Amino acid sequence: MNAFTYTRVRDVASAVREVAAERTAKFIAGGTNLIDLMKENVMRPSRLIDITHTTLKEIGATEEGGLRLGALATNTDVAYDKEVERRYPLLAKAVLAGASPQLRNMATVGGNLMQRTRCCYFYDTATPCNKREPGRGCSAIAGFNRAHAILGTSAHCIATHPSDMCVALAALEAVVHVTGSRGERAIPFAEFHRLPGDTPHIDTNLGIDEIITAIDVPAKGFAEYHSYLKVRDRASYAFALVSVAAALEMDGETIKEARLTMGGVAHKPWRDPQAEALLPGKQATGDNFQRVADALLDGAKGFGNNDFKIELAKRAAVRALSQAACGEARS
Ligand code: SF4
Repeated sequence: MNAFTYTRVRDVASAVREVAAERTAKFIAGGTNLIDLMKENVMRPSRLIDITHTTLKEIGATEEGGLRLGALATNTDVAYDKEVERRYPLLAKAVLAGASPQLRNMATVGGNLMQRTRCCYFYDTATPCNKREPGRGCSAIAGFNRAHAILGTSAHCIATHPSDMCVALAALEAVVHVTGSRGERAIPFAEFHRLPGDTPHIDTNLGIDEIITAIDVPAKGFAEYHSYLKVRDRASYAFALVSVAAALEMDGETIKEARLTMGGVAHKPWRDPQAEALLPGKQATGDNFQRVADALLDGAKGFGNNDFKIELAKRAAVRALSQAACGEARS
């Protein structure tokens, strides 16, 4: 591990000032990903700015009747919050599908958005990786790529985003609030994470001098008809091969609105409004769900070891939508 300095801040203004003054500094909160990356020499921040003493832990209501998650609320705080359980069970189930109880006690909402891919080559500094060292090449494309992306990939990177929470937040159309040197701004969730393109070393559209302060979730929580389905190698503790957040608004047997987001398949939670638009006005049948799954995976491409994920993702999407339509939410 590289030597680094440590600074503790107590408010957002100080946090922004400190990170703007040293561009190789990083914020630290739960540390459940960053410390691992530092131990492996993958990330080498010159300074850690400890934000755990700022007042960003609150979970409360927004003026519009939605939910505000402070950036430092832990995953456990979110999953067991009474309002989250009652109004946003899709979010609670996605959070509980991720990591382990010990990690969820430490990991924060902001950190969940900022966590980095678990591509094995990214962590192995002996191998080329464009995300770690731009221009060196991607070891996964012709290597061991069983867990890698099938959608939105580039010739430079085929990594996936590892979060479960973010898949649900994308389906719920959350908004990310950030503060930086030039003030505050709000980023729609779909625009927060990036596809790899030719800059796979940049995971998000967060500025280098910006900090996440809160995530707002709109009032519509799809509490009645939803499902979070996670397919993984071990039920106890593993990242998703494929995950699906499905949310429906039903009028009897007819679908009024549908949201479908997939995790484990791309560099960001994957959502396709055109595929979702196939469902409103239709009956909740297997055939209709299959058409949406086919449209969502249209253009999917495997890289050898992960070819199976294309069919797996389609089946998971159909199953999650079927569970959501029955009000039989599972994870
Ligand atoms: Fe690196 Fe991305 Fe290739 Fe993995 S998939 S080796 S993170 S460039």
